[in-house]
Amino acid sequence: MTRHVLVLGAGVVGVTTAYLLNCAGHRVTVLDAANGPASGASFGNAGHLAPGFARPWATPALPFQLWRWMRGRDAAVRLACSADPAFLRWMAEALAACRPARYRTNLRNLQALALDSVAALDGILAETGITLEGGTGGALNLLSEQSAVETARRTAGAGVEILDREACVAREPGLAAADLPIAGGEFHGGDRTGDCRRFTVELAEEAKARGVDMAFGREAQSIRLCDGRAVGVDTTADPVEADAIVVALGVASSRILRGFGIRIPVLPVKGYSMTVDVCRPDLAPRATVLADRHRISVNRLGDRIRVAGIADFADRSAALPAEQTAKLVRGLEAVFPGAAQGDEPAFWCGFRPATPSGLPFIGATKIPGLFVNTGHGSIGWTLAAGSARRLCTAFEASLADGSRSQNRP
Ligand SMILES: Cc1cc2nc3c(=O)[nH]c(=O)nc-3n(C[C@H](O)[C@H](O)[C@H](O)COP(=O)(O)OP(=O)(O)OC[C@H]3O[C@@H](n4cnc5c(N)ncnc54)[C@H](O)[C@@H]3O)c2cc1C
Repeated sequence: MTRHVLVLGAGVVGVTTAYLLNCAGHRVTVLDAANGPASGASFGNAGHLAPGFARPWATPALPFQLWRWMRGRDAAVRLACSADPAFLRWMAEALAACRPARYRTNLRNLQALALDSVAALDGILAETGITLEGGTGGALNLLSEQSAVETARRTAGAGVEILDREACVAREPGLAAADLPIAGGEFHGGDRTGDCRRFTVELAEEAKARGVDMAFGREAQSIRLCDGRAVGVDTTADPVEADAIVVALGVASSRILRGFGIRIPVLPVKGYSMTVDVCRPDLAPRATVLADRHRISVNRLGDRIRVAGIADFADRSAALPAEQTAKLVRGLEAVFPGAAQGDEPAFWCGFRPATPSGLPFIGATKIPGLFVNTGHGSIGWTLAAGSARRLCTAFEASLADGSRSQNRP
């Protein structure tokens, strides 16, 4: 049964969803307020495809971390007390998600989605011929303390190799010059590196060539209902009618759904990145390297290096304060000194659409014809393909029997 589906949002999640819905035989329109795809969080993220790091941020250790963050004891996280009821409710839900049993369930579900995503992304890459310039070199998580290496040795899951300092340097020769203690590292061979924006732009072009309509420069203002069913959206230009709507608006998803009593708790968590050209390939990372000492990830994207990090719960502005961007500059200089010396960095900030549990919302809502695919937090690039596939499955199920998905908000 062919339907006209309107996907709101042309980030990596919206575009991947649109592409797979089109492959399933539906007529698809993508609408975005910006002038092209990947203008939100998908623009300048780190680029780490991270199934090996698919962990909810709400862990049993979070309550202790919150205390440190609120006292400003961690330069990588800024959390200020806020009386905003939405923030307080989100935090209360995050704390509830830290209970060991809830955490284990969330971890299992997140890892299953990440593995689905690896397979779904491979399918899309094979079908379209899109390549990831960062390659398949895995990801190395550097540990500065020997005690952390011993803990990693005891707890490492399948697919994780624990390396000593020499083995870390053998994998990433640029680390020989690093100006930081390296006791060892965890190597995740299944991880990859790729420019999320480039992938999203190329997939949007491919989708367009296959018949998907792209409506840019139009902001979705509200969802139209007829007899209780979603039938279109009002926009800053003409309204758009459709048989079904998928909300994939990242951090803007909650607002458009609120009027229907659908609560999607997505909190914007600001992060920063810096992109520089490689000037000394022998000193640069080969793939993704994370450094616990600086709480950054350093990623090789072809002839560029992207450094990303910082979680700021307090700042909702588009500002790029020198105090924050300097942390990225210092981090790169410590981990891969000289790799990009002299180059003018391009700084960027974006907002992770974070949910209290760390799990995204994917599937039907209580309004017939209205679907969501949002809340992918700090690993939306990693989860996008699997989430798009699950959304398509939920959509087909709703066509078959009018049923709604289990995770119905
Ligand atoms: C610093 C940083 C580093 C990160 N690193 C990684 C990483 O290494 N690996 C990883 O997997 N993930 C990473 N992420 C997370 C990842 O970037 C996000 O989870 C992902 O990009 C979310 O994609 P999205 O499509 O849901 O949202 P977005 O990319 O934000 O897309 C939402 C779209 O909706 C549009 N929009 C908003 N409101 C409206 C409206 N009213 N009408 C029409 N259009 C609208 C916006 O213009 C935007 O294009 C990182 C994030 C940050 C901030």
